[in-house]
Amino acid sequence: MPGFRALLNDMIEPTRSAGLARLAAFVPLAGRAYRETRNEDRGPDDRSNVSMLAAYVRARLVTEEEVLRAVLARHSAAASEKFVQEVLWRTYWKGWLETRPIVWRHYLRDLDAAYASVARDADLARRLAEATEGRTGNAAFDAWSRELVATNYLHNHARMWFASIWIFTLQLPWELGADFFMQHLLCGDPASNTLSWRWVAGLQTKGKTYLATRENIRRYTGGRLDPGPHLAREAAAIEGPSYGPGSVPALDLEPQGDRTLLIVHDDDAAIESLPIHGLGVVASVGLLAVRGRSPQTVAPGVNAFARGAIADALVRAPRGDVETIVDFESASPADVEAAARVVIARARAEDAHVVAFPFAPVGPVRDAIAALTPLLVRDGLRVVEVGRIFDATVWPYATRGFFNLKEKIPRVLATLGIA
Ligand SMILES: Cc1cc2nc3c(=O)[nH]c(=O)nc-3n(C[C@H](O)[C@H](O)[C@H](O)COP(=O)(O)OP(=O)(O)OC[C@H]3O[C@@H](n4cnc5c(N)ncnc54)[C@H](O)[C@@H]3O)c2cc1C
Repeated sequence: MPGFRALLNDMIEPTRSAGLARLAAFVPLAGRAYRETRNEDRGPDDRSNVSMLAAYVRARLVTEEEVLRAVLARHSAAASEKFVQEVLWRTYWKGWLETRPIVWRHYLRDLDAAYASVARDADLARRLAEATEGRTGNAAFDAWSRELVATNYLHNHARMWFASIWIFTLQLPWELGADFFMQHLLCGDPASNTLSWRWVAGLQTKGKTYLATRENIRRYTGGRLDPGPHLAREAAAIEGPSYGPGSVPALDLEPQGDRTLLIVHDDDAAIESLPIHGLGVVASVGLLAVRGRSPQTVAPGVNAFARGAIADALVRAPRGDVETIVDFESASPADVEAAARVVIARARAEDAHVVAFPFAPVGPVRDAIAALTPLLVRDGLRVVEVGRIFDATVWPYATRGFFNLKEKIPRVLATLGIA
C-alpha cells in the first residue's frame, strides 16, 4: 500500500492542524481496537493500529490533555483504559525525571564516555556502525534500524525488541542505543527515551529487564520479521546507582506581567492553552535547542520537525515572528551570548520588560533557558516560566513506580475535569 505511507508522511507535517487531524482520525480506534491490536508491529506501511501522535505530543503541538479529552468524549473509561494509560506513561516519565534531573546528567556524562570508548576501540566502533546502519546480520534488528533512519519512527514493541537486542544480544552500551533513538526519532524525548532504555536494561525497575524473544517477535510482526535463533537467552540487569526522588517543581500557573516577550519552543507549542493571559504578551520569538538532544548530529527530519513546530506555534502566538527562531547552538559562552543578544534586541524593540518561557522539563530546552536566564536578568529583564495545571496535577503521582499513578488515574482525570 504505497499510498498509505505517503498519507502518513503528510500527516507528520509539523503543524498543530495536522496533529489535530491525526487525533481526530485515530479517536474512533482508541478503544477496543487499540487495546486488542496495539502490540502488533505491522510495518511502516500500516500504522493504523497506533496513533502516531508521539511527535505531536512531544512538541505539544497537541497536548496530552487534548488527546485524553477527545478519546474520553468518544469512549468509556473502560474501553479506552489502555490508550489513556499509554498517554499518561509519557506524563509519568516526564514527572519522574523532573524529580531526578541528575539521571539525565548522568546519562549525558556516560554517553560521552561511551563515545570516547568508541573512538579508542576499533571493534566497538565497527559493531556500533553495523547496528546503526542495519548490517548486524540479524534480519529483524537490521530492518528496524533502517526503518528508524528512513522514517524517524518505530512502533513501541519494535523499540522494546530493538533496545533489548542492542543491550543483551549485541552487548552494546545502552547509552549509545538511546542516543541513536534521540538522533532519529521525531518524538525523541529525554524522559520517555532515556527512562525506557533504562527500563529495558534493568536500571529503572531495579533488576527487572526486558528480554526480546524470537517467538514474540515473529508473532507480533505477523511473521514479517524473524530475528533468527541467536538472540540472548537471558538478560542480566545492568548495575547502576539508585536515585531517590527530589521535589516536584513548583509551576507558576498564573504568571503576571506587562509587556512580555514570549519565547516559543518545541517542548510546549500549544500556545492557545497556555495560561499567558496575565502577561500582556506584545511579541513572540522562537527558541530551537534541538542540537542538544545528542552530541552527534540529529537527523535532518528531526531538526525540520522541531523547527517547523516552533514556526507553526509562532504563527499562532501573539505577534509571532517566524523569521526569528533563535538557534541555540551550544552552551558555550559565545553561543549563549549570541542567543541572548537576539532575545534582548527583540525585547528592547518591543519595549518588553518580561520574558516568558513555557515551562520546559529536563532536557536541552531547559538547559538553554537556564543558560540564557542570567544574561536576560543582567539586562534588566524579568524572566518567568509558564506552567500547566495538567503537569502540576499529574507529576506529584509520578515520583515512584507507574502503578502509583495508574491506580489514581480516575481521580486525576476527575480533578482535571476530563473524565
Ligand atoms: C526504548 C524505548 C524508547 C522510547 N523512546 C520514546 C521517545 O523518545 N519519545 C516518546 O514519545 N516515546 C518513546 N517511547 C515510548 C513509545 O514507544 C512511543 O511513545 C510510542 O511508540 C509512539 O508511537 P505512537 O504515537 O503511535 O503511540 P501510541 O501507541 O498510539 O500511544 C499514544 C501516545 O501515548 C504515549 N505513549 C505510548 N506509549 C508510551 C510509552 N511506553 N512511554 C511513554 N509514552 C508513551 C505517546 O505520546 C503516544 O503518542 C519509547 C519506548 C521504548 C521502549
